[in-house]
Amino acid sequence: MKYLFPLFIVSFLLAFSCNKSVKKEYLKSVNITPAEFEARKSTCRDQLNYIPDLQHLDQTPIKYIRVNFHVMCNDEGKGNFDPKMGRYFINMVLKAANGKMKGNKKMNLPPGNDTPVLPMRYQYVLTGHPSDAKDDGIYFHNDDELYGMIGSGKNRNIYNKDVYNKYGIQKDTVLNIFIMTHPIDSLKSKTYVKDSKGIGYPDFVKVTNWFYKLKNARWENGKLEGTLNKWNAVKLLNHEIGHSLGLRHSWRGNDGCDDTPTHSNCWNKTKGKAPCDVYWSNNFMDYNAHSSAWSPCQIGTIHRNMADKKKKIRKLLVKKWCTLDEQKTVTISRDTDWLGAKDLEGNLIIENGATLTVHCRLSIPGKGKIIIKPKGKLVLDGATLENDCGDNWKGIELWSKDENKGSIEIFNDSKILHVENEIEMKDRES
Ligand SMILES: [Zn+2]
Repeated sequence: MKYLFPLFIVSFLLAFSCNKSVKKEYLKSVNITPAEFEARKSTCRDQLNYIPDLQHLDQTPIKYIRVNFHVMCNDEGKGNFDPKMGRYFINMVLKAANGKMKGNKKMNLPPGNDTPVLPMRYQYVLTGHPSDAKDDGIYFHNDDELYGMIGSGKNRNIYNKDVYNKYGIQKDTVLNIFIMTHPIDSLKSKTYVKDSKGIGYPDFVKVTNWFYKLKNARWENGKLEGTLNKWNAVKLLNHEIGHSLGLRHSWRGNDGCDDTPTHSNCWNKTKGKAPCDVYWSNNFMDYNAHSSAWSPCQIGTIHRNMADKKKKIRKLLVKKWCTLDEQKTVTISRDTDWLGAKDLEGNLIIENGATLTVHCRLSIPGKGKIIIKPKGKLVLDGATLENDCGDNWKGIELWSKDENKGSIEIFNDSKILHVENEIEMKDRES
């Protein structure tokens, strides 16, 4: 005990001496400066302002899209995967599709490009019903009327939404993916083409032909035998979800991105055969054998849409930004402009000597806070600080030391909402 007592005193003195000159207080009131800058709302709509910054990936937290799968069979349970093979195949495809996004590749077009290769910062997560532990998010339906999907020709039904209307589950929170198949009767026709087709609506996806990629794969004595080709399914899944996320085909006309040039949509590189010997794409939103690349503008478009409260896709995301995770604290150490909306998952710290200027919506998690260090500065120019989850965040903590104090400037119609330590916004007299 006699050794513990001095130790306690030393710890106390250390704690005291380290903190004695830094004061911390929550911001209580702030003056709004009239329109000195123009509010730049259009910046919040520009997809280029949502491209992840390779030097600061923590400023674009990974978003998780909830997905479930429906395997459609005929009334006899035929024409598509059985439950055992279906679950195996779907889990395999999902893992590979997430893997493709973790390993984004360099764009092949235009030839000689120096387009950066950026991480996608989103993933899919298989989601059953939260109240049912046995629900793995993979379902099997037998329905003669709705199991078949025909991609082209006079009997085309690719755009039909009946299957989603009848079998969609957790439609408000999960992207429903329907594994359709070729109608057994159609396969009897010699002219029927077993196309790998799909369609990506904002709230559901239909794909077909996955079952026919099984080739001779089968279970024998509890082991998988034969060949299982997953890559076509992976490509189709990422392509169709790309549409659900707001991407357009990139080969014809304007897809809203300058880094995805138009081209003649060659399936593959074909030696000596112009233009496919030079202009073959590897982008996911073209039809090609490679499907390995997304461009920065495409990634920005996806993140812009996921940040947009009016878009259906936002409702399908796991709301990671609702729970404070101190490990996800974002620290700003150099002058930074946030020109797009953000959903932070941790606290926000503005370091000494750095200014953060926020122009759009910024969500802070419940119980989270913004810390402005003594020589740090926060500027709000047309920004809305909020909690997107119906919760309160703590507020803006200003640190001071000697003559320096963390500062904040507010311009235009900026708002600070949902704070526990309320902030009075006063009009500055001119
Ligand atoms: Zn498409």
